[in-house]
Amino acid sequence: MARRVVVIGGGIGGLTAGHALATAPDPAQVTVVDAADRVGGKLRRELIGGSFVDVGAESVLNRSTETKALVEAVGLSDRITHPTSTSSSIWSRGVLVAMPKGTMMGVPATREAVAGILTPDELAQIDVDAHPVPLTDDVSVAAGLGAQLGRGLVDRLVEPLLGGVYAGQVDELSLQASMPLMWQAATQGRGFVAAVREMPAPPASTTRPNDAPAPFFFGLAGGIAQLPEAVAADLEARGHDVRTSTIVRELRRTPAGTWEIVVGPTTAPEVITADAVVIATPPPPTARLLADIAPQASAALAEIPLASMAIITLVFDRAEIGDLPGSGFLVPAVDGRTIKASTFSSGKWGWVDAADPERVWVRASIGRAGESADLQRPDLDLVDIALRELGEALGRDLPTPLDRHVQRWGGGLPQYNVGHVARIERVRADVAQVPDLELVGAAYDGVGIAAVVAGAGPAAARLLAAH
Ligand SMILES: Cc1cc2nc3c(=O)[nH]c(=O)nc-3n(C[C@H](O)[C@H](O)[C@H](O)COP(=O)(O)OP(=O)(O)OC[C@H]3O[C@@H](n4cnc5c(N)ncnc54)[C@H](O)[C@@H]3O)c2cc1C
Repeated sequence: MARRVVVIGGGIGGLTAGHALATAPDPAQVTVVDAADRVGGKLRRELIGGSFVDVGAESVLNRSTETKALVEAVGLSDRITHPTSTSSSIWSRGVLVAMPKGTMMGVPATREAVAGILTPDELAQIDVDAHPVPLTDDVSVAAGLGAQLGRGLVDRLVEPLLGGVYAGQVDELSLQASMPLMWQAATQGRGFVAAVREMPAPPASTTRPNDAPAPFFFGLAGGIAQLPEAVAADLEARGHDVRTSTIVRELRRTPAGTWEIVVGPTTAPEVITADAVVIATPPPPTARLLADIAPQASAALAEIPLASMAIITLVFDRAEIGDLPGSGFLVPAVDGRTIKASTFSSGKWGWVDAADPERVWVRASIGRAGESADLQRPDLDLVDIALRELGEALGRDLPTPLDRHVQRWGGGLPQYNVGHVARIERVRADVAQVPDLELVGAAYDGVGIAAVVAGAGPAAARLLAAH
């Protein structure tokens, strides 16, 4: 009889693991259980202004062969698309400045590359010939980079770029976990600028004309949130179960070595039995579920802070709003604005533009780790703030939007703070003692979809190989 595996959490991590288990040569019988009313977790789309658009994650690293394979396996390859505009800006010191090219998360290969965004004093602080003492212990991004590159570069460029991934604070984020290439240079005693200078050039595209660089990201026409929807549908079509609106409250290991997963309301609990379990929930529920099963892993996971945020989507009449420059902009936290980034979705994605050429979709995000006061405000306040600050960035009053939507992401992104790599090693070591249990998701080897998907396949393979 096929092994019964319950996957707790139907975000992209849990669904990828479930799909790998269900499509292996000797497949398991899979049940994916999710607390929300739909699968997808941080991949979600809503009908706004007459078109479905992503209100969470929207793009995937183009080099993610694992995600592309999943897209293909569920029949969505023909929807793969790339940003039409990648010319973004930084809204710094009240002006939109073109994003410097050729940096590694803001670390440049030359001073000139970042001259447009830094003052002469800040530029002078960049030590292009540094020969640092090799680092052995993890440090914050600000401490690690700041010593060689100056606080100006960290605040004006590295922080907003990292903020786009982690919504984190540079004084807390781990250099080792969040900038692994810079960490590698630091441990080898190589200067950061030299390390970026020596990096190989990105490969030319085989599919784009004139040797244009290969696109850095891909999305799906109609929204990346179609991917979890399609994976869940494919699982069901293969005879597996996907249960939404089903919260997992407790996980028990029986003396016989099987699992009991307690789901549903406390007044009417239901027990699902399984031979193996994948936990694919964010760190707080994972820590709770592991409290008795792997107490050290549970304690380590409970140390991981999370950043909450909101994505505000605005839809405008194109004739009223006029042209918007490029794909959007990032905002350095040091400038004290409330929004931390804005994406001009109609400029960035051809499929959004084509959805209604007379309308323009714009996203703004609010919320960074450790800063939740702004998110206490009601939705309409967040819309007003986004409109006001977008107008300030563009230097003109914006028209009244035709439609608006606020998506809250409470605890949306785990923070890879100093010591994260060692913390996750402790989690893994403790969980490895427990048979037939795997963890997948954004807390472990990277918060992006590419990293989450890449971690899920091997987790499924380990479970299948164990028997
Ligand atoms: C606003 C935002 C924008 C982002 N943009 C991008 C982007 O453009 N590109 C990119 O690569 N990454 C992006 N990310 C990051 C990426 O989307 C996430 O890190 C990733 O999708 C997380 O996947 P996951 O499966 O680990 O977890 P989640 O998506 O968090 O899924 C976990 C699931 O577990 C369920 N769950 C929780 N508790 C229980 C329980 N007790 N019982 C049952 N189910 C439970 C939840 O309902 C949820 O569906 C973004 C993140 C956010 C928040």
